[in-house]
Amino acid sequence: MAEKPEDICPRPDFLPDQPTQPLAPPIYTAAVYRCRDPEQAERLLAGEEPGYVYSRDGHPNADLLGEKCRRLHGAARAAVCGSGMSALAAAVLSQLAAGDHVAVSNQLYGRSLQLLTGEVGRLGITSTPVDTCNLDATERALGTNTKLLVVETITNPLLRVSDLAALAALVHSRGVRLAVDNTFAGPAICQPLEFGADLVVESLTKIMSGHSDVLLGLLCGREENWSRVPFVLSTWGLSSSPFDCWLAARGLGTMALRVDRAAASALAVAQFLASRHEVQVVHYPGLASHPDHDLARRQFNGRFGSMVSFTLKDGGPAAAAFMAGARQIPFCPSLGDLSTTLSHPASTSHRGLSHEVRQAQGIGAGTIRLSVGIESPESIVAAVAEGLAGLGESTGRGPPEC
Ligand SMILES: *Cc1c(COP(=O)(O)O)cnc(C)c1O
Repeated sequence: MAEKPEDICPRPDFLPDQPTQPLAPPIYTAAVYRCRDPEQAERLLAGEEPGYVYSRDGHPNADLLGEKCRRLHGAARAAVCGSGMSALAAAVLSQLAAGDHVAVSNQLYGRSLQLLTGEVGRLGITSTPVDTCNLDATERALGTNTKLLVVETITNPLLRVSDLAALAALVHSRGVRLAVDNTFAGPAICQPLEFGADLVVESLTKIMSGHSDVLLGLLCGREENWSRVPFVLSTWGLSSSPFDCWLAARGLGTMALRVDRAAASALAVAQFLASRHEVQVVHYPGLASHPDHDLARRQFNGRFGSMVSFTLKDGGPAAAAFMAGARQIPFCPSLGDLSTTLSHPASTSHRGLSHEVRQAQGIGAGTIRLSVGIESPESIVAAVAEGLAGLGESTGRGPPEC
């Protein structure tokens, strides 16, 4: 007797046996996998046999992406999380417990500061923000119950560079671990584990995936810090979407090319801005005038990243005029896209800080942050020049060169 359509249609299929492998990876959207028998299920869930059961615990697209990221960082272990913030949360939840203390750079990404100085307090974890460019101050911030120091390789928006080797040596002498948010550099510019970091956090949303169409994060680290990570990811629900992982892996395919191109253009843009009288200061670690230039030369791979910040002499009105004039550069408070974008820290990423704190850090209403893309360097410099022309003054210097 013929089967009924309502029975045929809903039943799961088996994939055909394939003698050839697809060149592009499939997307495994399955939330759950079929186990052969209870014994296999038990071995899989206990981690005694490799394989997948439930996608919150792991899935092939996360593993494909995570394995590439692990190799990019020379890490023993890597895990892909649902966002950069969930990767940072995974670091906190796997490494810290009530009664512990965490020291954090006072220039961290805004949400990271909120997590590490506000939210952790609700879990009984204390914290101290400190200027981690100052090693003495950093040492004073370490107490007997300090377990972790969290810094960023390159800070936002002033692009200060953390001395990872010095910070690692300092904290290790006190039995403290170093976690580094490497989002603004990425592994093509800097591999923090090589300088002694214990854990690396990255927002894959930005430079790594590179197309502004996914939200993902990465946590990687050493074997000895990893024991709680898989359990934390699954139990706190920090895991990733297969489709986002697939898109990120696709974006990652061109990361080395994108970073190389964008960093070369960023240097050209920084040099151009430094030559302009409307600009009070340019922040780019590739310029000899940057306070961390020598450190950046030692710690980076010869490139200095794709982020350039600058402060206009005439403050907020000049910044508004620049943003209105720079019609080719979208105002997007994110970074790492294919196209050049700009952000205005005082009204976006740093709006939570008081005017005084912003001033003390050197972030003014006239500060603009550029995320340099992969367009031709000539067109990026021309787009920036168009923004400066919006300030309404003739510079008398003729068209930009780069
Ligand atoms: C964007 C960002 C994060 C957070 O990443 P999401 O993927 O947006 O959650 C963390 N740190 C830095 C430096 C970032 O730029």
